[in-house]
Order: sequence, then C-alpha cells, then structure tokens
Amino acid sequence: MYRISSQLSEKIKHFATFPQTGVSLRQMVMFGQNPTQGTLFKASQFLSEELPIRLAHRVKELEELPHNLSDMPSIIRVKNWYAQSFQDLVEFPSKEMTPALKDLAKSLNRQSEMQALPENSPNLAMPNGNNQSGRKGVSLSHRYHSAMDGQEWPVEMHSYNERFTKMIEAVKRRHDPVVTTVAQGILEFKQQKRSHTVDTDIQAFLDRFYMSRIGIRMLIGQHIALNKGPSRKDYVGIICTKTNLADMAQEAIDNAKFICEDYYGLFRGPEVHLHCKKDLEFMYVPSHLSHMLFELLKNSLRAVVEQYGTECDEYPPIKLIVAQGKEDIAIKISDEGGGIPRSGVPLVWTYMYTTAPSQHLDPTFDKSDFKAPMAGFGYGLPISRLYARYFGGDLKLISMEGYGTDVYLHLNRISNSDEPLP
Ligand code: ADP
Ligand code: MG
Repeated sequence: MYRISSQLSEKIKHFATFPQTGVSLRQMVMFGQNPTQGTLFKASQFLSEELPIRLAHRVKELEELPHNLSDMPSIIRVKNWYAQSFQDLVEFPSKEMTPALKDLAKSLNRQSEMQALPENSPNLAMPNGNNQSGRKGVSLSHRYHSAMDGQEWPVEMHSYNERFTKMIEAVKRRHDPVVTTVAQGILEFKQQKRSHTVDTDIQAFLDRFYMSRIGIRMLIGQHIALNKGPSRKDYVGIICTKTNLADMAQEAIDNAKFICEDYYGLFRGPEVHLHCKKDLEFMYVPSHLSHMLFELLKNSLRAVVEQYGTECDEYPPIKLIVAQGKEDIAIKISDEGGGIPRSGVPLVWTYMYTTAPSQHLDPTFDKSDFKAPMAGFGYGLPISRLYARYFGGDLKLISMEGYGTDVYLHLNRISNSDEPLP
C-alpha cells in the first residue's frame, strides 16, 4: 500500500499554503486555440504548479475532517491517491526535463513573474504569511501568452509534452473511483456512528471536495485533449464553442427514456416534449451538460412512472423548455410526478439522500462520473448543481406537492465567471 513519507508530507503542507489559481472557460478557450508545442509546454508548466497546489489543499482537508471521518479506511485510500498524484506531479519535471528544458522553464517563470503581478511560486519561494494573495488573479492567458511563440524550442520538447500528458492521464485514471470511494467512506462513518444522518459540515465538505475534483479534471481533461492535436470542428479541447442545445437535450431525452423503460420494464415510458430553438448554440463543455440533463430527466421520469404506476397507458408528458437570454441559457424541466413534500426539499440536495431502493456501491462500476443507472445513489441533484455552479450557473428546484416538480438549470452565457475554488 502507498504510504506518505514524512518528507512528502512536509512538501504537501508547503504547497497547501499557496492559494489556488482559477481558470475561466473563456480563458481556456482563448488559450487553447491552435496551440503550438511551445504553448503546450507552457501549459504543462502551469499545471505542474497548479495541480500540486490543488491536490495539496485536498490532502490537508482530508486529514482535518471533523468527527474522525479522516480515520475511515476509504477516506485514507482517497487521501493516499491525492498524495501519490501530488508526488507524480512535483517529481516529474526534475526527473524528465533535459537541462535545455529546465532553462526554458526557468526563463518562462521569470517572464510570467515580470508580466503577471507579484507572483510567488511554491517551487521558488518558501511560504510566508504574505504571499497568499500573490498568485490570486494571475490570469492564465497572461502566463501563457508571451514571447514564446514563434521562438525556436528544444527538439525534446515534443516528447516531454507527450510524456507529461501520459502522466496526467494516469493521474486522472487513478482518481476515477474517488466519488464512489468517498461515498463508501461516509457509509463507514455512518455505520461506526450508528447514525443515518450526515452533518451539514460533512455535506459542505463534500460540496467543496467534489467541486474541486470537477476543476482538477477539467484542467487535466483540457490539457490531454489539446495535446491529442486538432479535435473536432468547433471544439477547443473538451469545450465546444457551439454546443447545440436542441441536439444535446434530445440525446439526453433518448438516453434517459431508454434507461427508464428498461428499468421499469415499460413498453412506452412518459414522453418528453422538447421546446428549444433548433439553432441555439453556446459555449460549454458538452459532457457536463449531458450529465446534468440526463440526471434531471431520470428524476422526472422516475417521479412520473411511480406516481402513475407501471401499468399506465398514457403518462402526462414531461416538458423540457430552453430559454435563450442575453446573460444565460435557462432550462426548465417540468413534470407531473407528484412533487416533493416541502420538508423533503432541502434533503434532495444532500449527498446520499434518495427515496429509491439504495444501490450497492461498487467503485468499479462507473469510472468517471458516478452515473447511477436509474436512481438510488442520491448523488444526481447535488453533483449536477456543482456542475452548473462550476461555470457560474445554478440549479434550482421548485416542488408542488401533489402535482409535480420544476427544476431550473441556469447556465452562464458569458462564461468568464471566476472558477469557484473551494
Ligand atoms: P437519486 O435519483 O439517486 O435518488 P437524486 O439526487 O437525483 O438521487 O434525487 C434525490 C431525491 O430527490 C430522489 O430520490 C427523489 O426522492 C427526489 N426527487 C428528485 N427529483 C424529483 C422529481 N422530479 N420529482 C419528485 N422527486 C424528485
Ligand atoms: Mg437521480
């Protein structure tokens, strides 16, 4: 089993004293258009610093959880993954860089220091009380766009970029089972405490922790995609500059209906009526959008089927309405599934709250996004809200008990909102 050496532990503590640097969707798109090997190298330099800082914050938090939660075996496993990835990242440059690349990296560091505000790098400076504010607000594009392009770069840069990408791909894979394993840790904790409830401080921790995970995976996913070379039309890495809402919504409807009909053994499940302009496009990460739509639609389908029973011939249709505003795209999903009692509404945002038969946790079952088949994990709503908030949007739910539920998904159109950094 992996163990954190005391030396590594010190290093993690050191990195955890530095603030994280947010990256907005717009910055990622600006940076990622037609990247050269030089820009990709700079991005790897940014990630070599930013990812260890983010990981170190998480290790620290996992060590300091309230009520002995830190001692649960699954939580310790997760903490070790974070520490191991931290180690992989901080050791990579010194192991893999040739002297020429090291010089280049140093000169880039100097450039970005000169350009971009008073900046402290954990690799250069020892932390003191004051440098906390230094890095905050350093714009990514600032750090990326400099004299570098058009310059000759060492021939070994390409292979360095490739190996760096492989390394962070392995890191991403290592963290695939994090959501399920943390959930397992909470179960261990509940069993030990013989309690069914999870305190609000633990809920808040989970929100921060999963939000941070979304951000880390976004940065890694984007870097991997950019390194794989020119991607599909209208894509910058994993961001689609022309995400078509009607297409995405229809796909989510088809998938959710398929799962629903399969799960309940229905010949024909509830219909979903889509109201959306065919040519409505905006900049977003399609995988995030489909995750949210799929989860919300499954919830509505389940509510309607359970309200009317599996023998019903004609269910009241679910409506999915997309509105295009100047500031945001709002999506409303309305169902007549009987709603949620008012006292139950706050609970739906808590992790592991479900009224479906509980699903067995299996960390090998879903690799990345914790897609429960139909329902039963109680992660659908809280995780979807994190995705929405990650790019400055939000998710709200209004219930009319005895009739049905409306959920409102607001997605920022301008998308230069600051990345939330827990
Ligand atoms: P899960 O679907 O795994 O139960 P969610 O987080 O998606 O987890 O939803 C939590 C709970 O919220 C559901 O179990 C259900 O009780 C309630 N809920 C969510 N959406 C609806 C809806 N549209 N109508 C009625 N109840 C809902
Ligand atoms: Mg659900």
